[in-house]
Amino acid sequence: MRTYRTSRRRARLALAAALTVTAALTGPAAVSRASAETPTPGAAGLGDPMFPLDGNGGYTVRHYKLDFDWRAPKTPFPAATTIRATATQALSRFDLDFAGNELHAVTVNGSPAQTRRDGDELIITPKSPIPRGSSFTVKVGYTADPTQIRHRDDAIEDYGWIPTPDGTVLYPQPNGAKMIFPSNDHPSARAPFTVRVTTPGDLTAVSNGRLVDRAERPGGRVRWTYDSEQPVATQLVQLAIGKYRLIDSTGPDGVALRDVVPDDLVAPTKQYRDLTPDHLAWLRAQLGSYPFKRYGVLVGDTDLGVALETQTLSLLPKADLLGTRVDAERNLVHELTHQWIGDSVGIATWSDLWLSEGHARFYERLYSEAHGGDSFEAAMRTAYENHDQWRHDYGAPAEPTEPNLFKRMRYDGSALVLYALREKVGTETFQRIERAWVAKYRGRTTSTADYIATASKAAGQDLSGFLRPWLYGATTPPMPGHPDWVVRPVVTG
Ligand SMILES: [Zn+2]
Repeated sequence: MRTYRTSRRRARLALAAALTVTAALTGPAAVSRASAETPTPGAAGLGDPMFPLDGNGGYTVRHYKLDFDWRAPKTPFPAATTIRATATQALSRFDLDFAGNELHAVTVNGSPAQTRRDGDELIITPKSPIPRGSSFTVKVGYTADPTQIRHRDDAIEDYGWIPTPDGTVLYPQPNGAKMIFPSNDHPSARAPFTVRVTTPGDLTAVSNGRLVDRAERPGGRVRWTYDSEQPVATQLVQLAIGKYRLIDSTGPDGVALRDVVPDDLVAPTKQYRDLTPDHLAWLRAQLGSYPFKRYGVLVGDTDLGVALETQTLSLLPKADLLGTRVDAERNLVHELTHQWIGDSVGIATWSDLWLSEGHARFYERLYSEAHGGDSFEAAMRTAYENHDQWRHDYGAPAEPTEPNLFKRMRYDGSALVLYALREKVGTETFQRIERAWVAKYRGRTTSTADYIATASKAAGQDLSGFLRPWLYGATTPPMPGHPDWVVRPVVTG
């Protein structure tokens, strides 16, 4: 990618030089055409159907560096975010997504910039405009507020900073990263991260990817530096701070495993955490090789209702690992599946969420059925019976409504679409589709249209006429192979 970008940039510079020469030869009219593009404001959002102001236009983030000088739970602390970006237009000003926190100085390329806040938009006007194609560095200093939390009335419930008795974990999904650091807070805008956090000496900090440095600091404090190794969507950034034990081992294919567990939960959660190598091997057989170098389970000492697939380190609330084996494995396999689909294969827009949650639920149920859990077919029959009601209440699988984004339609309701596809094309062809799609979009974002196109190609037949009514229709199509399955009538009001 880097080579490609460089060569494109060279081509653009060459073109600009050529135009300048032409202008010199042909007079003032041509000069205006050849002179630099007039700088204009970058768009305030990417226009996502669910969250139009999330993400920002006019530039691409190349790298985030987050600096946190952590003090104590629920206590504000000094923070800074340094963003390296490339302008995709000539910019007079640009936005970051940033909610709450106390903003201090913002610089662009080292010079103080003017700022204005409007809702969750931080609008930055640099001292001089930024030419198209040029790299620039934005540094935002602020006092972070680790009590910031928001609520959704769907499966997400609370998101943002999630306090623990001695520290914090993060739950940024869907768009709560903006409460934690200024960013392009949209799943399509991924970039590598360096996270540097200083803590009291008796605490441990863990973020996505690899620990690159642990340094003693004055006053008995410790500075931890993590490198994400791969681009991460803002919703999948993790930072756990607290009294944690790090438990290292090696999984299949040499995947480095590191569980992050509060001291008193190490023994009670061990029997289920130890199943990760089995889960990795099972999922590799379904979806191909694991997409990252490392993985781990972060046990959250919180009452959080749901787990989160933060990249290379899934957050599981402690209750998920203290119940039955069947329940624990469903949660563990669900979040691990997301490392392939949702994390490595990312979604292009929030309307594509069915791809991420539908697949995670599909493999969670498939695994569970083979390991003592409920019948997959019975669960899908129940989902089928409810499907028109869910379409009515929550929107079709690939056409969610914003308040109902994380409702059951995106989970069992979307696993049902994949089940229907498997019933139509047969298990062997379905597996070929899945592996082809995951391989093709590994490390990239993907859309519903991409899935339909890849499925059609892998199956050797145009599946759009089959999949589109399932994904977008107002009513549920017949289930292939199950003429006796019936959809219950919609109850309104
Ligand atoms: Zn999920």
